[in-house]
Amino acid sequence: MRGVVMYAPGDVRVEDREDPTLVEPTDAIVRLTATCICGSDLWPYRGAEPVDHQPMGHEYVGVVEQAGDGVRDVAVGDFVVGSFWASDNTCEICRSGYQAYCIHRVLMGTIGTQAEKVRVPLADGTLVATPGQPDADLVPSLLAASDVLGTGWFAAVAAQAGPGRTVAVVGDGAVGLMGVLAARELGAERIIAMSRHAERQALARSFGATDIVTERGDAGVAHVRELTGGLGAHSVIEAVGTQESMMQAIHAARPGGHVGFVGVAHGVSLPGEDLFGAGIHLHGGPAPVRRFLPDLVRRIWDREIEPGKVFDLTLPLEDAAEGYRAMDERRAVKVLLTV
Ligand SMILES: [Zn+2]
Repeated sequence: MRGVVMYAPGDVRVEDREDPTLVEPTDAIVRLTATCICGSDLWPYRGAEPVDHQPMGHEYVGVVEQAGDGVRDVAVGDFVVGSFWASDNTCEICRSGYQAYCIHRVLMGTIGTQAEKVRVPLADGTLVATPGQPDADLVPSLLAASDVLGTGWFAAVAAQAGPGRTVAVVGDGAVGLMGVLAARELGAERIIAMSRHAERQALARSFGATDIVTERGDAGVAHVRELTGGLGAHSVIEAVGTQESMMQAIHAARPGGHVGFVGVAHGVSLPGEDLFGAGIHLHGGPAPVRRFLPDLVRRIWDREIEPGKVFDLTLPLEDAAEGYRAMDERRAVKVLLTV
């Protein structure tokens, strides 16, 4: 099969990889319909994380081609969406809703889903089957549920977005935009998107943003406070993962407010005095996407939401290197790769 391998920072190639086979009875082999490039794939691409001949990708939708003897809940021929952590969905941590920390978890990024096929461990606990074969126009939205929508949704839940609350969103990448959509679906009264890019502002508005703040850092915080009677937002979604974005999120929240942080942290160091002074709730980390997947798949299937609009560039898998370049240069928000 063909698959994406990152040889080194900036060096992405599509090459022949060995076809996956069933290893455990709980495995499934999925023939992918579509996959995509994640903002987090840019960290190794830019040399901010070590990388050496790594198969890439952790987002995926497709059709089950083989299922092990121990697989009960999905069957050959099912169209499935999976989360980026494989999880058993039965252990005590999974049952508490934290499947990203399953005691048997496997990171799909170590297997690499930017490929024609993928082995999915713990298939029953990882995959969710759609009610039937999806129309082509639903595929991007279902793919978004695999990570960016699930992650944005978790951030909104962690930030306690809901009726009567003002939500500020730090980060206008795909996850931040999905956080806007999630906040709207969860009933937030007001959603402040923080973005300097006209196209992303327009996308944020289409997903439900009511206000746009273009400033960053302290000036951005001051603008959010100005929009909230000097108090700060009830809920803040942090979807970048840098020192500046974390401090912006923490300072934009009002006392007693909630920050949901899902940007993969790089070099973030939180000053204790700031945290002590802020009086806020902080919750985040890798999203337990599997907790939300059945609900998200239903909302997409019923055409209540269209998260697939977040993909603004579609390329064949063979052109993955161009997809990485486009995202690195911020010419694209998120790239869908057709298989
Ligand atoms: Zn588990």
